[in-house]
Amino acid sequence: MTQNQSTVSSCDIVQRLKKKGDFLHLSRQQPRLFSKPTDFMLSQHTNVKIIAEGIICFEPLSLTDKDIVLSCGIHGNETAPIEICDDLVRDILISKIVVKQRVLVIFGNLAAMDIAQRFVTENMNRLFSGEHKNIEKDQTINNERRRANQLEQSVRAFYLGRVDDSVGSRYHYDLHTAIRPSKNQKFAVYPFQHEKPWDKQQLQILLACGVNTILLSGSPTTTFSYFSANNFNAHAFTVELGKVKPFGENNMSDFKEVIDTLTKMLCGQSLELKAFEQADFLIYKVNQVINKQQADFVLNFADDMPNFSDFAKGEVLAVETGAIYKAEHDGEAIVFPNAGVEIGQRAILTVIPTTI
Ligand SMILES: [Zn+2]
Repeated sequence: MTQNQSTVSSCDIVQRLKKKGDFLHLSRQQPRLFSKPTDFMLSQHTNVKIIAEGIICFEPLSLTDKDIVLSCGIHGNETAPIEICDDLVRDILISKIVVKQRVLVIFGNLAAMDIAQRFVTENMNRLFSGEHKNIEKDQTINNERRRANQLEQSVRAFYLGRVDDSVGSRYHYDLHTAIRPSKNQKFAVYPFQHEKPWDKQQLQILLACGVNTILLSGSPTTTFSYFSANNFNAHAFTVELGKVKPFGENNMSDFKEVIDTLTKMLCGQSLELKAFEQADFLIYKVNQVINKQQADFVLNFADDMPNFSDFAKGEVLAVETGAIYKAEHDGEAIVFPNAGVEIGQRAILTVIPTTI
């Protein structure tokens, strides 16, 4: 952060936001501006509620049928989604676009953005569904846990906060970029649905965003998207948009489809979705969740091997004292491998092709 920016006083804040739309910038630079909730109107058509630094809600006065949560920066160094959401929020605030649906935009881990790291103390996307409260006796509540709790409360208040007590159809796109490249550049994790069927219409929206690879989650998790899916029946997804790059180094044309589709959804325009066809997708289900149990856990493949690289049955994926982890099927692929996680956390997910 540069120091030559003029500071903004809390009385100037509304005019400043309507003129420059730099909510994220001010949230990072002067979070205290948003220590109390702020409400204001945009041109008599949209009510803006700033819930806290990095958390902003837009409510059109006209009738709406969708409640859409867009979250980004749950991992602080995943810049492309942060830039996408920053642009959308700016365009709404300066009235370049007008939303026709209720929208909550969340910039998750501001402190981690400032140090260009995934997190400060721990991975926030393992802290939802109340996991943030689960602390050992000698631990204190760190900022990531505090923030995860605040994000849960903001999402709850948003979904349950329609003025007429109606229930909108609920969406949550938690936008990320992956640490490593991927054979399928954009992919989405579809949270575990318990008894409910996978929704093909939702996959068509992802396809319109340029996401054709879907990973069906097989069990409850502590991710943000599972929180919204499980607690609020939201159509929620963790969407991976490509590889992590520093701020300003993303080629925004790589994200044109996702930006266009989200903008259309927010602005109430038709998405003109085509009918579902299995052949348009690569769909995987989880086969193994390999947790690191020992400090000497090592991957048996190159550090930069892309996500969704596949293995033959019996090939060794990772080794640690007391265990050798192997592919159980031909074509079993690896996702999110990370030998550097804490002991007890997931070091590799393996997936196999499936259909829905
Ligand atoms: Zn991430």
